[in-house]
Parts: sequence; structure tokens; C-alpha cells
Amino acid sequence: MVRSLLECARVVDVQEQHHLDWSWHGHNPGCGFVSISLEEHRMSVERLSRSLWGAWDGANATWPLPEQALLQPFWDYLRQSHASTLRSPLFPVLLSVSTYLVLVLLYTTLDLLAPTWPSIRRYQLHPERTVTWSNVGNTLALTTYNHLLYIFPAAVAQWLWRPPVPLPHHAPSLTSFLLGIAGCTVLFDFQYFVWHLLHHRIAWLYATFHAVHHQYRQTFSLVTQYLSAWELISVGLWTTVDPLLLNCHCLTTWAFMVFNVWVSAEDHCGYDFPWAMHRLVPFGLWGGAPRHDVHHTQPGTNFAPFFTHWDWLAGTASAPVKFCNNNDHNSLKENGLGSDKGD
Ligand SMILES: [Zn+2]
Ligand SMILES: [Zn+2]
Repeated sequence: MVRSLLECARVVDVQEQHHLDWSWHGHNPGCGFVSISLEEHRMSVERLSRSLWGAWDGANATWPLPEQALLQPFWDYLRQSHASTLRSPLFPVLLSVSTYLVLVLLYTTLDLLAPTWPSIRRYQLHPERTVTWSNVGNTLALTTYNHLLYIFPAAVAQWLWRPPVPLPHHAPSLTSFLLGIAGCTVLFDFQYFVWHLLHHRIAWLYATFHAVHHQYRQTFSLVTQYLSAWELISVGLWTTVDPLLLNCHCLTTWAFMVFNVWVSAEDHCGYDFPWAMHRLVPFGLWGGAPRHDVHHTQPGTNFAPFFTHWDWLAGTASAPVKFCNNNDHNSLKENGLGSDKGD
């Protein structure tokens, strides 16, 4: 009995020293009352390891952490009420496309109201520039063409050849959910930064694939997907693959897709709203609409889509100038920046 207690104490000591070790090999069943404290200890170790590991392995996190319970009711509702929709390989495509359409509808309505509504115009990066019906028609035409020719066939192919997506029983923990979205966004930001830099530095790549996006020096929401097929496919591929690389839960994956469309549209929306991401993320780490607007007027700068660190490191960062009053508008026109396609 004494020997057994000593063995138990030694196991506790080892676990204390290696409390971040993921694997636990079970407790000694012959320890009597000591086995109760051992069991508690095992639970606390396992809870800690799962909370850390669950951040990166949301699909497999099963421990009922309090923060995990936050998303579980919502996930249960989705699984019980919309399982067939969620399991369809078409669902991620429909989610991305419908999010994009809702956002551009919202921003385009603001664009069309802005000339007569000062309360909207005051948030525009370039209030002197008007988004015309011609701008809307041209960008919408290419967006529709790309969707019919590339997105729709890719979605149908997925529908035909991919098996229905399995829905795990457990929701991701809140930490896993948020870190998954953040991780995918950081990864996507780096991938697009490299792609974007290469497509500006190599003349053939720029002329063949990226120049189309720069036909508009004035950004407005529909410019977001005014892209060549190659750029659209590249962006779509990273959005699909990055959550798989980080082993994200499907709820995290879908949230990342929505977030990615949201911040991409915000980059091009042409507004500097108080709730914009670059105002919410501290230390100037997020570029947002003002910095991407600079990229469209000075195409040799600000290649990263979201964060600012890669441009700082590469020496390609360019801070935006505030365009909030008529003096700024006049200086803008004097600098010849008022000539956009379709104006
Ligand atoms: Zn752009
Ligand atoms: Zn560019």
C-alpha cells in the first residue's frame, strides 16, 4: 500500500513537471483515495492541454470547456435544422457568393445615395468622385461572366465529385474558432502578398493577369471581384485550402470565408467608417480601405491585402492621405488622381 502511494505520488510529481505533455497514460487503479486527486489532476492537465491543442485542432476538440459551450447551442441548431444544406459541397460557394452580393448591394446603394446624402458622403475616401451606373454595369458584367464561366462550373464539379461534408458532433471552442479565423487570415494575407508583389514586378504577369483589376483607380465595392480568372482562382484556392492546412472545424472554415469576403469588400468599398477593421485592429497592423485605396492610385505600394507588416518589411508601405475636405479634393485633382475608368 505504501509502495503504491509512493508510486502515485511519483506519477503526480512527473505530471507536475510535464504538465504540458499532451499524452496521459492513465492512473494507477490501486491507489484508493489518492486516485481521486489523481483523477482531478488528470482532468486539469487534460483540460489545459485540450484548451491549448484545441486552438489548433478544433475539429477534434471534445472536452466540454465552458468556452466551447458558447458555440455548441448554435452548432447544434445548425446541425439539427440545416444538416443537408451544410453538408452539400455547394454550400461554401453559395455562402461566399451570397455574402459578396449582399455586401456589394449594400455598398452600391450607399454609393448611389452618397451624392445627395452628406451623412454618407462624409465617410467616403474620395467624396468628389461619383460611382456611376456605368461603373456598376461594367464591374457587374465581369463578375457575372467570371461566376458563370469559372465559379459555377467549379461548384457543380464539387457537387458531383465530392462526398457530402461530415458534420462533427462538437462545436469548436471559441478560442479555436477565433484563432482559426485569425490563422487563416494571416496565411491568406502572406500568400496574396507574394502573389501580388510578383504580379506587379513581372511585367508579363501584370499585363496578363493583374492589370484588369487596376483598370479602376477609384475603388468601390464591385472592384473587389473585378479580377482575371487566374486571380479569382488563386484567391478561391487559398480560401478553400488554408482552413484545411490549419485543420479548422467546418464552422470556423465558413466563418473565415465570410470574414475574407467581408474584409476584401471593405478594402475596396471606398469608405472609412468608424467600425472599419483598420480602426479596430491596434498599432496600425491592419491596412484596410485607406491603404488599399493608395495601392490603386500608387500601384507600387501596399501589396498586402489586409495586414501591414509585410509591406513594412518589404519597404513598400505607403500611408494614406486623409481626403476629408475640399482642399484635399482640390490637391487630389491637381495631382491628376481624379481620372478613373468610367468617369
Ligand atoms: Zn484592389
Ligand atoms: Zn495590384
